[in-house]
Amino acid sequence: MDPLALSKRVYIESYGCQMNVSDSEVVASILAQDGYTPVKSAEEADLVLLNTCSIREKAEYTVLQRINEMNNLKARNKGLKVGVLGCMAERMREDLLEKKKVVDLVVGPDAYRTLPELLKKVGTGQKAVNVLLSREETYGEIEPVRLDSNGVTAFVTIMRGCDNMCAFCVVPFTRGRERSRDAASIVNECRQLVRDGYKEVTLLGQNVDSYKWRPTPSAFDTGAGSNRSVDPQGRPASDSTGTTDFADLLKLVAVACPTLRIRYSTSHPKDMTDKVLEVMARYPNICKYIHLPVQSGSTDVLHRMNRGYTREWYLERIASIRRIMPDCAISTDIISGFCGETEEDHQQTLSLLKTVGYNMAFMFKYSERPKTLAARKYPDDVPEEVKGRRLAEIIEAQKLHSTGRNAGYVGQLHEVLVEGVSKRSQEHVFGRNSQGSVVILPRMHKGTELLPGTFVKAHIINASAGGLKGDIVDLMEEIQRTSVFHSATADHAPHASL
Ligand code: SAM
Ligand code: SF4
Repeated sequence: MDPLALSKRVYIESYGCQMNVSDSEVVASILAQDGYTPVKSAEEADLVLLNTCSIREKAEYTVLQRINEMNNLKARNKGLKVGVLGCMAERMREDLLEKKKVVDLVVGPDAYRTLPELLKKVGTGQKAVNVLLSREETYGEIEPVRLDSNGVTAFVTIMRGCDNMCAFCVVPFTRGRERSRDAASIVNECRQLVRDGYKEVTLLGQNVDSYKWRPTPSAFDTGAGSNRSVDPQGRPASDSTGTTDFADLLKLVAVACPTLRIRYSTSHPKDMTDKVLEVMARYPNICKYIHLPVQSGSTDVLHRMNRGYTREWYLERIASIRRIMPDCAISTDIISGFCGETEEDHQQTLSLLKTVGYNMAFMFKYSERPKTLAARKYPDDVPEEVKGRRLAEIIEAQKLHSTGRNAGYVGQLHEVLVEGVSKRSQEHVFGRNSQGSVVILPRMHKGTELLPGTFVKAHIINASAGGLKGDIVDLMEEIQRTSVFHSATADHAPHASL
């Protein structure tokens, strides 16, 4: 069959983390160069790509079910080709090609540039695979095609891979070694987002605090014979070695795009510096929200997890956040039932949740992943029902803490960026405050409809574990000097207590 005869409508379905969503947008861009147009459903497509996640067994199971469903689609559309991208492609390549006959294409996270070539092979009726990991690939200069975009918020990947080797985690095996993306290309992508009307960006990496970029002399040569390292504005980079670290990068983006709200994820407690916190505190367009996964409240468990910090170290980092940014919201990730976790360890996690009083948490049962340090070294010895019971206790406790934090916002005036119409009520819109809480607001204000992308000064009137409700005080032209305004009402919680 002539490969050119392949129709060129692609549907990309993303599973797992925000990084996968961002990767799918890079894939769409690479395929657009090759003549592919993104479509909104698998039924309309000639090529379906599943961008997959391996983080827990359940995530893989969901994708395997979806791959099976592709058989029905193929039965209806004989020309349909199916590809598996991302972490499962890397981890399960042989299984996918041998056991899942419906799969035509398997491509790992560092091999997306080879997609056009691989698709030519698929077009001739052969299966194609490339799961080579790279030490350099950052897709730095590729301008992503924004998929499923609300036109307001976007992701920008600043680094790939991870060198940390947490004992439970499969990411270093599926996404390879850590590498940072050229700072100039990150700033340029953010500037492009502003030109395209976006109001918020989330900078993504598995461990953003270890971001480090040193320009090669040729990348920013400042003139004849000079090989001085310079930043993306042509100014010398901010430390004596010419390296841009994460704090420098945040500052560069904040200054280059003052009308863009900036978020980032994920921080690592062992690497998070006060320098980053000080930059966050200084720039009003950097959101006052940090996701700082702790995983466990027990130093013994943290040691077995190979996280590189103790409970005390973690609490000291929390104290720094509170000291430098009293109005900063904090969220976390928790794993229940990691290898060897005792009841006492579990109680320490519950007590840490209480001590910190997180705004929000993502909570999981430990799921053993092949090849990881834990799978090789420690028995998965906490019974399933114990993991489940502990997880339920953690969720229950966190619900109280989230409710408490949100209740503290009632009476305050917050800057909210509207993202869209509320799913529950056509009369309302939803947005987020700087702290990342969802805020529900009336859709109309003095005869004007609140459109996505509008900044609003909102009076918070109600709170639950899941979010906030507010009244509109004013529409704002742009981001203000502060994200939490003191309310005229006497009974609001002072935000220093957040
Ligand atoms: N790089 C980030 C970090 O270090 O915090 C997050 C990586 S991972 C995509 C997101 C979360 O999934 C982790 O923080 C952890 O809580 C959870 N996770 C990772 N591996 C897991 C496993 N084997 N079982 C259960 N949860 C896991
Ligand atoms: Fe996984 Fe740890 Fe790296 Fe996060 S920091 S991706 S948990 S190895």
